[in-house]
Amino acid sequence: MNLPAIILGTGGSFLFLCLIFHPLERAFPAKQGQRFFRPEWWIDLCFFLGQYLLWSGLVLWLLNRFADGLDATLPFAFRASVADQPWWLQAVEVVLLSDFLVYWGHRLQHRIPFLWRFHCIHHSAEHLDWLAAHREHPLDTVYTMSLINVPAFLLGFPLETLAGVIAFRGIWAIYIHSNVRLPIGPLRWLIGAPELHHWHHDRARDAGNYANISPLMDLAFGTYRCPDHEPESFGIQEEIPRGYLGQMLHPFRRSKRRR
Ligand SMILES: [Zn+2]
Ligand SMILES: [Zn+2]
Repeated sequence: MNLPAIILGTGGSFLFLCLIFHPLERAFPAKQGQRFFRPEWWIDLCFFLGQYLLWSGLVLWLLNRFADGLDATLPFAFRASVADQPWWLQAVEVVLLSDFLVYWGHRLQHRIPFLWRFHCIHHSAEHLDWLAAHREHPLDTVYTMSLINVPAFLLGFPLETLAGVIAFRGIWAIYIHSNVRLPIGPLRWLIGAPELHHWHHDRARDAGNYANISPLMDLAFGTYRCPDHEPESFGIQEEIPRGYLGQMLHPFRRSKRRR
């Protein structure tokens, strides 16, 4: 893809997401009175632009290398029988398998200091909205995307099944960060909701709610947490740089204050 097309795609995506999520945030705010240009909005915009203009190509390239490495790990006949299943069954299998891996991979991101160095960038956001979802170190993205796609790579799910699931997961990840509280009742036990992920962004590093799409894994493994109000504040307990470049370099720096 050439540069003008990439820039146009980035601007188009920004507008598209803004048009979906901003009215939702105005109509059903989780935190009342949060401004559109709230503090650190510009840092999150840098992460958005970095992701679209620079890092998505690198992430895809690394994922392809990873997929090539895993290719043919399982016999061709098995992979072909996976691809022969109805598309809806494949979609359910992909979601369940990758949710399981993402859940445990995410718990490790919070537990293992080396992984937390990268993941803490995402958690350093002190205001949540649809744009804050993009605050993520690119190597943290590579880690999560690999976990999401491992079952698909290994089992040979066709690209068409995957593309839909990946697109849904991307939009969902943005939705659960948005400053929205929708009254969906008991449905949130099945498909999750922003309030669950908001509690994941509580200042405590082991705040729970590690699942992405469905909270079933949190319910199964005892990390589901859903008080009836928003957390007091979001963020992390350690000090990290408050600029884009500083945060990109932070995981590679030595620090006595890092846990
Ligand atoms: Zn996390
Ligand atoms: Zn998050």
